[in-house]
Amino acid sequence: MLTRMFFGGFVRMHVLYHAAQTPIFGAEMIEELRRHDYDIGPGTLYPMLHQLHQAGLLSCSSDVVRGKRRKYYRATPEGIAALDEAERKLRELVAEVLHDRVPEEGPYGRRGGE
Ligand SMILES: [Zn+2]
Repeated sequence: MLTRMFFGGFVRMHVLYHAAQTPIFGAEMIEELRRHDYDIGPGTLYPMLHQLHQAGLLSCSSDVVRGKRRKYYRATPEGIAALDEAERKLRELVAEVLHDRVPEEGPYGRRGGE
């Protein structure tokens, strides 16, 4: 599916958003993303979490839960700054892409005044 090309950025932003609220862990995020209709498996999500951690946007700590080690991630101050920046870009994009949408014309209605 071609829309998958965009999902990486959406998923990273979504993860960062939740990690800015509360510590998150992989399995929980997979469930959360599924709730939002993203079918992301551990083979995709875990490398993303690792990458965000390596980039300094997430901090990581581990804990043992029911005999298994679990990694918790939280947004760092850099992660929160990146989220703020991404939010500005997202608002700008939404204003541009969705601004001229006229519901009666369907999702990709013609631009007004043209
Ligand atoms: Zn969510």
